[in-house]
This record gives sequence, structure tokens and C-alpha cells, in this order.
Amino acid sequence: MHPAFVILIIVAAYAIIMIVFALSRGSNSHFICPKCACDFQVTGPKYLFSPKTFNTHYVTCPKCGYHGFLEVLPGKE
Ligand SMILES: [Zn+2]
Repeated sequence: MHPAFVILIIVAAYAIIMIVFALSRGSNSHFICPKCACDFQVTGPKYLFSPKTFNTHYVTCPKCGYHGFLEVLPGKE
């Protein structure tokens, strides 16, 4: 097997693992809006592609439209 092909497989596998991890994390965390106290979840691609820091996430409240960096809370809403 060509070495470049092996590296490609490793990179692809790593990317898939990270996506699965992000998706599962997204479905198991929730946010509380500081404006209207709405408890909501962000799932799937929206969670994956939104800007994030170590423990905060740039999200939009589905109820009042507030958007900003909110703390990621473990567990479902
Ligand atoms: Zn809100």
C-alpha cells in the first residue's frame, strides 16, 4: 500500500471520529438563554459548524433569537 494512501485513510478516519464525537456531544448538551431563560438544544450540523471555545458555543436561541457564546451544559434539556 502506498504511504500517502495510508495517511489519507488515517486523516479520513480521524475526521469521521471527530464528526461523530461532535454530533453525539451536540445531542447530549443543552444551553440556557440568558435573555428569556429558554432551555434549548442545538443538534447536528448546526452544532458542528458553529463557532466554539473550550466550553462555550456560539448559539442562537430558538425562542427569542438571542445569539452569543453560551456555556455548554451536559445532559438533555
Ligand atoms: Zn431566548
